[in-house]
Amino acid sequence: MHSAPWRGCAPRNIFDLVSFLRRSVTGRPYILGESTWTTVRGAAYEVAVLPWGATEAHNTHLPYATDVIESEAVAAESARLAWDEGARVVVLPAIPFGVNTGQFDLAYCVNMNPSTQALVLGDVVRSLAPHGVRKLVVLNGHGGNDFRPMIRELQPATPVFLCALNWYACVDPATYFDEPGDHAGELETSAMMALAPELVRPLDEAGPGAARRFRVQGLREGWAWAPRRWTQVTDDTGVGNPARANADKGRCFLDAACRRIADFLVDLAKADPEAMYE
Ligand SMILES: [Zn+2]
Repeated sequence: MHSAPWRGCAPRNIFDLVSFLRRSVTGRPYILGESTWTTVRGAAYEVAVLPWGATEAHNTHLPYATDVIESEAVAAESARLAWDEGARVVVLPAIPFGVNTGQFDLAYCVNMNPSTQALVLGDVVRSLAPHGVRKLVVLNGHGGNDFRPMIRELQPATPVFLCALNWYACVDPATYFDEPGDHAGELETSAMMALAPELVRPLDEAGPGAARRFRVQGLREGWAWAPRRWTQVTDDTGVGNPARANADKGRCFLDAACRRIADFLVDLAKADPEAMYE
């Protein structure tokens, strides 16, 4: 049994993490990308998990792949916990591009439109459906992605039960952080310090993540909504102050999130898509 990469005898840096993952190649039948056809065709997976990230600036201290690294790691650890409890779960490779239509003026933020995401999701689901998977969870790591309208449209056209969750919102961050923040703030920085410390720049290089609020009251209060023009909202691309982030907070939060998601995967694996209501 492997421990979570951020715990115990955990790798201390990204090189350790890579070798940890390599050592695990034969031991993680719940990671599709590490498994052979021999394993996969006989595995009778019940639930597929599709991590979905984004490629975008994260203040000046976190890497562009932050949302990909987080969603993939959370998916892998949640699946490991669920697998150990007998749930046949498989994690698909992460989709690295998110909705970033508010960031076209930020260098190399790579946008994937919602309509493109819907096509990608549909193709993935149609590829899995003939092979026995009965449920698919989109494990989202990027605030600009919203899979609900896509799932509403796709669900009537597939026998696979579809659902989505935002990993960063499945436990209350207020219990773990002084000021969680929205983007590259204390929560996300702490998570990355736990997962991939070698990719996190020293915090004194980070901007404060100060965000300008909407002038229009309804938008400011959040009951009316519009997407944000990122470069007009923040000077350093962050929304939320990373100053009080640390790896311990990240580990505690990741542990709680993965435990919660694992319990969900176990429940979902047992559930009959034809009888989902009490
Ligand atoms: Zn992020």
